[in-house]
Amino acid sequence: MSSSSISRSTGGSSRRQSHAPVPYRQAPLAYEPAKFCLCAPRAKAPMWISWSDSNPGRRYLACPRGRSFGCGFFQWVDDEMSPFLTQLLLDLRNAVWALEAHNRILDRNVHGWRSPNVEHIQ
Ligand SMILES: [Zn+2]
Repeated sequence: MSSSSISRSTGGSSRRQSHAPVPYRQAPLAYEPAKFCLCAPRAKAPMWISWSDSNPGRRYLACPRGRSFGCGFFQWVDDEMSPFLTQLLLDLRNAVWALEAHNRILDRNVHGWRSPNVEHIQ
């Protein structure tokens, strides 16, 4: 019940909702064997994790110079997931983002309630 109210209260916000909901366990270039994009000079393609609505949790390789300045290299590392796992990861991603948004609101409220006398209490 409480989790649905959190989702509802923050669901309309699109602020800061493109970042990874969990930290990377491995740096984007810390994989082997190396895959290189099509740029000259050759550059090792970093491995990222998609958190898009259609491919949450799916790893991919992309040109390190980005879409605008690079060669456009893009390759999925993982196969497509089942609809069940896709929805499960979307639900988990959205739950993390909703909790982060809720924490930001709580942090702002806590900072707003601080007064100079608080230091004397501690
Ligand atoms: Zn490239």
